[in-house]
Amino acid sequence: TTRKSSHNFNAGPAALPPEVLQQVAAELENFDDTGMSIMEHSHRAEPYERVHHEAIATAKRLLGISDDYEVLLLQGGASHQFAMVPYNLLDADQRANYILTGAWSEKAKNEADILGDTYSGGSGKDQAYRRVPDFDTIDAAAEDAYIHVTSNNTIYGTAWQDFARMSEWEAPVVADMSSDIFSRTFPVENFDLIYAGAQKNIGPAGVTVVIISRALLERIKNVNPRVPAILRYDTHADKHSLYHTPPTFAVYMLKNTLHWIEENGGLSAMEARNRQKAQLLYDTIDNSAGFYRGHAHRDSRSDMNVTFTLPTETITNRFLDEAKDMGFSGLNGHRSVGGCRASLYNAVPYESVEALRDFMVSFQRKNQ
Ligand code: PLP
Repeated sequence: TTRKSSHNFNAGPAALPPEVLQQVAAELENFDDTGMSIMEHSHRAEPYERVHHEAIATAKRLLGISDDYEVLLLQGGASHQFAMVPYNLLDADQRANYILTGAWSEKAKNEADILGDTYSGGSGKDQAYRRVPDFDTIDAAAEDAYIHVTSNNTIYGTAWQDFARMSEWEAPVVADMSSDIFSRTFPVENFDLIYAGAQKNIGPAGVTVVIISRALLERIKNVNPRVPAILRYDTHADKHSLYHTPPTFAVYMLKNTLHWIEENGGLSAMEARNRQKAQLLYDTIDNSAGFYRGHAHRDSRSDMNVTFTLPTETITNRFLDEAKDMGFSGLNGHRSVGGCRASLYNAVPYESVEALRDFMVSFQRKNQ
């Protein structure tokens, strides 16, 4: 069956490129003429291994990273990384530094608090997470076990605008890039460890991408021997992420989605298109004479998640109801903040954003 057209603004799991879904449908039962679905192959057999290594190689190509980094394909989502990071990197005599820019960074810090000492060298909490802290106000020490940042704050719709000055931090830099990885170019070399669930920009839920520097991998060889093997990064790196059964179908989808990004111009093309999409909505908000109120401060706006409210809760709810009837999906804000949120990940077409802009303009005309 052909699917009904929809405008998918879900925050994650999110829209996938139609070309990728069509390819999957075409080879679902007979992958590469093997007479089996990719899901039915052993993870130790050549057809899957080829997919697996191609996913890793494509990720490296897109990010332009050298052999100084390993790309790992793990399970458990970004939330699992909240625990795995301190398990591997937080020694008993150290403190980890969590820069708080939203609910996800708080959750990451809470997990580390269970295992050891942490502090926050910067926080946007007292400003309702409307902006990412100014770099010059952040405390960072060379003795920090690591400095943890969230590159894009999915719930509040804020993002670090650039990562250039993170190179000034002497401690290892760890980033949760769940909601913007592969959506824009960035200097990988300014980070020691990056992690992201795939389900926003690069595939379905079930696979988690981890990018870790070899230097850090070397260092964690000496971690507490009581850390279980399954939770150690070096376990997975040593076995090229085939230590145990990987989420084979999700990895196959990741590979196809990364190929799609490559075929469509790579990260700089994604960034340009994502910027254009976000600009369309931010302009609509800025030109609405206060009818639409953006949550994020202008200097911290995310290109991935555009968050806004309307004059009253009743009008906001009417907006969401009518939007749903018009075929716009996923515009509700996160349950913890309410309001509206349009997520504009890689696979969301410009035409969907134009349709939303038109709807916003006409809704304002009728309701103000
Ligand atoms: N970090 C960020 C920035 C997120 O947006 C999310 C999910 O939306 C998570 C972490 C949690 O990811 P997961 O559900 O894969 O554990």
